[in-house]
Amino acid sequence: LLPLVGSDTRVPLTVPLDGVTSLPYANLDYAASAPALAAVAEAVTRALPLYASVHRGAGYLSQVSTALYEQSRTAIGRFVGARSDDVVVITRNTTDSLNLLAGCVPEGARVLVLDVEHHANLLPWQRAGADVLKARATVAQTLQALTNALATRNYRLVAVTGASNVTGESLPVAEVVALAHAANARVVVDAAQLAPHRPFSLAATGADYVALSGHKLYAPYGAGALIGRRDWLDAGRPYLAGGGAVTNVTVGHTSWEPAPQRHEAGSPNVIGALALGVAATELTAVADRLADHDRTLRERLEAGLTRIPGVEVLRLWADSTEPVSVVSFTVAGQDPGLLAAYLSAEHGIGVRDGRFCAHPLLEARGVTAGLRASIGLGTAEEDVDRLVRGVSEFVTVGPRSAYEVVNGRWQP
Ligand code: PMP
Repeated sequence: LLPLVGSDTRVPLTVPLDGVTSLPYANLDYAASAPALAAVAEAVTRALPLYASVHRGAGYLSQVSTALYEQSRTAIGRFVGARSDDVVVITRNTTDSLNLLAGCVPEGARVLVLDVEHHANLLPWQRAGADVLKARATVAQTLQALTNALATRNYRLVAVTGASNVTGESLPVAEVVALAHAANARVVVDAAQLAPHRPFSLAATGADYVALSGHKLYAPYGAGALIGRRDWLDAGRPYLAGGGAVTNVTVGHTSWEPAPQRHEAGSPNVIGALALGVAATELTAVADRLADHDRTLRERLEAGLTRIPGVEVLRLWADSTEPVSVVSFTVAGQDPGLLAAYLSAEHGIGVRDGRFCAHPLLEARGVTAGLRASIGLGTAEEDVDRLVRGVSEFVTVGPRSAYEVVNGRWQP
């Protein structure tokens, strides 16, 4: 759909099999980080000789950098359907964005969060004394539990995932927004996993804030964004204290800028913001086709995995629809860490194993650890089929190469 850098990467097999020493990398870990778009790499390469300090410099290069930085802010806002009065704060990543927002929630405001969240959308709220609601077995029951909770206490903010980093599922965001707004609460959506797979719009869903990460959106590390309502961000404590965030400073007193500058003290990540802005624009152009690609490959992956004896695909809700292509699973009697290492060593496949920064989610489902395969722009049917074949062979035949278990890990 869009060219990516590094798509011809080959990876060595730890033990050559039938004379094959390396394979094209089957990257099934897009949910952790996605490779950069070729368009992003080109834009970054073009900008590298030109960057200079933004906002404060009068020189030509400072003007160019400032324009690139501010154009990226606009592109990011457009990507998430920001309303005209929403603020786009450029951050480091989703974790940064959510911590920033947690610091701007008005004093004493109650926050409600579900127990299915990634730690990035749980711990900042937990630390601020939020109530954690247990997700129920179905979406309908979970929405009812949310409604009941909103009726019992005066919540000001509900934090929800746009798509789970474990199962790809979500609650219907517009419905959560309607419930929350009826109870006078705002909604923040953690779109770290949603935005790379499906279009999201603040204006269309009515959500108040959204957080995302560039490195999951086909841009490199170091830039993310928090986008949303101005008032809390204008009134909140500046995220960092320092230059660029202030209007005037005396020895005894500092006057702070409004958002977004208020929360962007220090020299900003111009190149990272540029990369994220370009990625956002490129992804918007292929959004529908990307969503189709995602649905088709997820179905293929889930169907293939569930045919293997002992494999169980994790689901949060029996009635959820349209999960994005992030699929976690367990294999009865098998250690996920060993299986993940085997998939890399013998099949050149990259997956994630463990507890996925979502410990309460796994604990509530009695799962100690699992494997996660996630799909993106560069994933082909062959990658999905290779994973299904690899897991199946492991279960039915066992590994072909000789490894030993050292400290619980599979090592040559
Ligand atoms: N939320 C979700 C749903 C995620 O998947 C992740 C990353 N795994 C994060 C938040 C945190 O993103 P980052 O590490 O870029 O801050």
